[in-house]
Amino acid sequence: MARKPAQKPVFAIIVAAGSGSRCPGPQAKQFLSLGGQPLYLWSVKAFQKCLKITGIVIVGPNHNPQALHEMQQETTLFNKVITIIAGGNSRTESVSIGVAALAAATPILTDSDPILIHDGVRPLVSPELILKVIDQVSSKQIAIPTTRPTATVKKIVGNTITQTIAREEIGLAQTPQGVPYGLLCEALDYWLKNPTTPITDEGALIENLPPENRAQVTIVNVAGETCNLKVTFPEDLQQAESLLQKKMTHEVPFKPRQATGFGYDVHAFAAGRKLILGGIEIPGHTGLAGHSDADVLIHALVDALLGAVGAGDIGRHFPDHDLAFKNLCSLHFLSRTMTIVRERGFYLEAADITIVAQQPKLAPHIPSMLTILKKTITSPCQLNIKATTSEGLGFTGRREGIAAYAVATVTATPL
Ligand code: MG
Repeated sequence: MARKPAQKPVFAIIVAAGSGSRCPGPQAKQFLSLGGQPLYLWSVKAFQKCLKITGIVIVGPNHNPQALHEMQQETTLFNKVITIIAGGNSRTESVSIGVAALAAATPILTDSDPILIHDGVRPLVSPELILKVIDQVSSKQIAIPTTRPTATVKKIVGNTITQTIAREEIGLAQTPQGVPYGLLCEALDYWLKNPTTPITDEGALIENLPPENRAQVTIVNVAGETCNLKVTFPEDLQQAESLLQKKMTHEVPFKPRQATGFGYDVHAFAAGRKLILGGIEIPGHTGLAGHSDADVLIHALVDALLGAVGAGDIGRHFPDHDLAFKNLCSLHFLSRTMTIVRERGFYLEAADITIVAQQPKLAPHIPSMLTILKKTITSPCQLNIKATTSEGLGFTGRREGIAAYAVATVTATPL
C-alpha cells in the first residue's frame, strides 16, 4: 500500500513589532487589551490551536526589552512558540529578522516548507483560514487571503476622482500570507539589497522580485474573513471586542475522543420496600429508601455516564421532587441516559461498578444484573459488576445502607 506523504512542517511568524502611531495612548496597539488579554496573544492562540502549525516565531518591538520580557512571560504555556525576538524598523525588516531567527532555531527547513506571516494586530484570525492558506502554498505558489470591498471604489488623483474601479477586481489583503521558505528568503534578500519600494505585505514583496523571477510565481487568492480585521484605529478595537464576544458565545465546546466519568451513590435501608439492585429484585431482604426504586447501583452508573459525556448529574435529569419519577424503575433512567450519551455523539465503551453491602450476598445475582443492564444499554460494551463488603466498618458495615461506585468510559462516535 502506498504510504501517505509525511506532513510538511509549517511555521508561523507573528509580527507584533509596530510602535502603534495611529492608535493613541501610551501602549503600542499589539499590547492593547482585548477580552482582558493583549491583542497579539489572540493570534498566538489561534496558531497554537491549529494542528498543522509546527512552530511560531514572535517578532516583538525593537528597543523595548521590557515588552519582550512580558511577551516571554505571557507565552510560557504556548509550547509551539520557538522564540520571541526584537524586530526592525519596518515590517519587512521585522519579517526578515523573524525568518533568520526561525532558520537559526530550525535546521530542518526546506525550500518548499510553508511559512505563514501574520500581523499581530489581527486577533480574530480563525484556524480554518490558517488551514486554507497552508493548503495553497507550494514551492512556486504563495497564498493571500482577501475580502471584497463593500463600497464603490474610486481612483483619486490629488483631490479629484478620476475613475470608478470595478469592485470585482479589488481584494483587500489580509494575513496570514503563506510563502514557501525558499521563495521568502529569495524575495527578502532581493528587497534588502534593493530597498527602494515600501513593502506592506508578502504579496508586494513577491511582486517586487525581478520580472523573470516574479513570472515563475503564482499568487493565489484565498477567501478571507471579515472578522479577521486589523486593529489600526481605536474604533477597530471596539469592533474586535464585540466580534470576540460573539465568537466566544458560539464557540463549539471541546469534544474529547474518549472520556471517563465517575459515579457514586448511597441509599439507606428502609422497612417495607423491595430491594432492587442492578435492575433486578433481590428477594428476602429489606429494600432501600428513595424517591424512585432506589437502585443505588444504576444511580451510580447513570452518574458515571452523565459525567463521561459532560452532561451534569442524575439530580439534574431526574430530580427527586418530580412525581413522574416516584417509585419509577431506575432502568428507565439508564435507558434515558444512554439516549443522552448517543445524542452527545458517544457510545459506551466500558463500565465497571463496585457495590458495597455487608448484606445480602450479591455475587449470585450479578449475572442476572448484567443481562438486564446490557439489554437496557442496547449497544455492545464491556460491563463489569463487583460486590464487596466493608469488613463491618462504616455505615455499610453497620448494615445501615448500600453504597455503589461506578466508572464509565465513552468513545466519540465515528462521523
Ligand atoms: Mg440515588
